[in-house]
Amino acid sequence: MIFLIIFLFGLASGSFLNVVILRLGTKKSFLGGRSHCPNCKKIISWYDNIPVLSFLILKARCRQCDKKISWQYLVIEIATALIFVLLYFNFGLSFKFFSYVVFVSFLIIIFVYDLKHYLILDKVSLPAMVVAFVANLILGLSLFNLIIGALIGGGFFAAQYFISKGKWVGGGDIRLGILMGLILGWQLLLVALFLAYLIGAIFGLSLIALNKKKMSSQVPFGPFLTVATLVSLIYGQVILNWYLRLLYV
Ligand SMILES: [Zn+2]
Repeated sequence: MIFLIIFLFGLASGSFLNVVILRLGTKKSFLGGRSHCPNCKKIISWYDNIPVLSFLILKARCRQCDKKISWQYLVIEIATALIFVLLYFNFGLSFKFFSYVVFVSFLIIIFVYDLKHYLILDKVSLPAMVVAFVANLILGLSLFNLIIGALIGGGFFAAQYFISKGKWVGGGDIRLGILMGLILGWQLLLVALFLAYLIGAIFGLSLIALNKKKMSSQVPFGPFLTVATLVSLIYGQVILNWYLRLLYV
């Protein structure tokens, strides 16, 4: 029962994140105002705005103008719900759970926005840094740990930024690096950076193998970083212990 409630809470949150992502590029506030169809601008009634259900009932089309609704909305709602359930499964109904729910929400926004616009917005990453810093202090991570994490995360991408004169990574990646340090602490940050490059390499090689991309084509790195951060947030300690055991056998 509690799993179902968490799942529904995740669906509703994913639905809210969709609105935030959609309105980030515009000047509209994502708290006030009714949702409307991006195509015909007609207001969407509450019964057409139920996560997943409405999408299926309307067969992914706007009721007014029949324009196809992107499957992105459905994927984000379900992914958010599954991640929330996973967090509950690992951390129970604790302060940690609710903190991580907020961390993950920021990560999902950064993931989708960077994937679509090749951009990480400061108005997302900066508030996320503040939240992560405060929540992790309350959760018992030391100030030293968080500052070192932020320095390593930010420094790692700042170095690449200056060496390549902004060609390899963007300024947004530097801020994301700092955020990763503040979310994870320095040890799990190292795990996340390693994972991001591993996932990125596997993904890149598969695209090249499938002839979808050339070696030189640009792929935003933010999505890999956010996925790696999410995995490290939940399983980082397990991965780290496993790796350390490999070193000391
Ligand atoms: Zn419409």
